[in-house]
Amino acid sequence: RARWRRAVALLREFEEGCATPPARLRQVVDAMVVEMHAGLASDGGSKLKMLLTFVDALPTGNEEGIYYAIDLGGTNFRALRVEVGSGSVVTSRKVELPIPEELTKGTIEELFNFVAIALKDFVEREDGKDEKRALGFTFSFPVRQTSVSSGSLIRWTKGFSIENAVGKDVAQCLNEALAMSGLNVRVTALVNDTVGTLALGHYHDEDTVAAVIIGAGTNACYIERTDAIIKCQGLLTNSGGMVVNMEWGNFWSSHLPRTPYDISLDDETQNRNDQGFEKMISGIYLGEIARLVLHRMALESDVFGDAADNLSTPFTLSTPLLAAIREDDSPDLSEVRRILQEHLKIPDTPLKTRRLVVKVCDIVTRRAARLAAAGIVGILKKLGRDGSGVASSGRTRGQPRRSVVAIEGGLYQGYPVFREYLDEALVEILGEEVARTVALRVTEDGSGVGAALLAAVYSSNR
Ligand code: ADP
Ligand code: MG
Repeated sequence: RARWRRAVALLREFEEGCATPPARLRQVVDAMVVEMHAGLASDGGSKLKMLLTFVDALPTGNEEGIYYAIDLGGTNFRALRVEVGSGSVVTSRKVELPIPEELTKGTIEELFNFVAIALKDFVEREDGKDEKRALGFTFSFPVRQTSVSSGSLIRWTKGFSIENAVGKDVAQCLNEALAMSGLNVRVTALVNDTVGTLALGHYHDEDTVAAVIIGAGTNACYIERTDAIIKCQGLLTNSGGMVVNMEWGNFWSSHLPRTPYDISLDDETQNRNDQGFEKMISGIYLGEIARLVLHRMALESDVFGDAADNLSTPFTLSTPLLAAIREDDSPDLSEVRRILQEHLKIPDTPLKTRRLVVKVCDIVTRRAARLAAAGIVGILKKLGRDGSGVASSGRTRGQPRRSVVAIEGGLYQGYPVFREYLDEALVEILGEEVARTVALRVTEDGSGVGAALLAAVYSSNR
């Protein structure tokens, strides 16, 4: 019995460590705004890189033609063929392939040859061999852009580590691979997945001011006034604005609720001390945080019988499984029993142990969703759209305008409880009245389709 009490004590401790009451979320919001300012003031001024994208014009609805896009940056590689015209955009075809694990740790040539061959197969099937097409290249890692169609990789995230790519122009590398494969397709827009998502969101709804990804990793971008991008004096654009890729996955603040499990998780990753916000929020990590908690419980109590060893292998509890555990609404938690048995090799758990597991998954989910909500409010606050009346520039504003945030990612789209917690936190932080002016809008395949739209905007006929 004392041993069961130990498991419950660990649970309580974890729950307290992960607490995100509204007051703390507001501190996170304010820290986000402060870091955004610092990142815009100078390179290296903040853990938030606030990267220029050179996207100063978003699709308007007047784009026409056939474009390709590829989306590379997480679990799967996607290629899309997009037809645009008369204000509508359709994905005529797409293919999706998992990225072989070994390609995420080899050389950039190997990875991009894989991409080029997959794209070549796809293009030849759709349009024939010699078709000349513009390509939107969604590459969801931090890139220092030198133009809308070029930029060098700053560093890898999300478990990728291809050393010979860091510092290289990834658009040029891909163009070389495409040329070698004999394909007549070239990159005209190199974009982050957040930027593609914003482009598609804005295409559908002009009130779209920001985009957020919550998938394998997490990140956000938004439309900033060029005069607020202090680190780039004299930046002039026709629109007076530019999309800024925040790279918010690397956000850090002492107000973030960090537990010993977060520190253990960080130690297991290839990018230690980086992407601290991402490691509390996104799909690669949530299941692993829960596993670390369950493993400690297995070591310090007898709730999992002799199965402690079975919980000792990193990354054996995936985030989709964590979601399935949390969403099991059967009275006897039979799905939880099945997952524990089949995936973690823990047989015969009593109901109360299964309830404990559900609770651990719930705590991890709730913290993640609420922190993501605080990040979103941080952007709205920076834009003077959080209803607080005073924009960050000090100017007072009237009633908050409607704000749309385009959002996508497998975690957000596949996990209803996550969405509920996120929505709930938005209301807690903003109040009901202001929260009603904020719409989160899912853009299906936005990261890819939006990149194709940007390829249209920025191809030579402009
Ligand atoms: P990316 O484009 O970055 O590869 P995706 O947007 O495709 O990422 O999302 C994939 C991630 O989403 C996976 O890492 C997985 O953890 C998470 N995910 C996918 N489906 C679900 C689900 N049903 N519940 C929770 N998380 C999910
Ligand atoms: Mg994606």
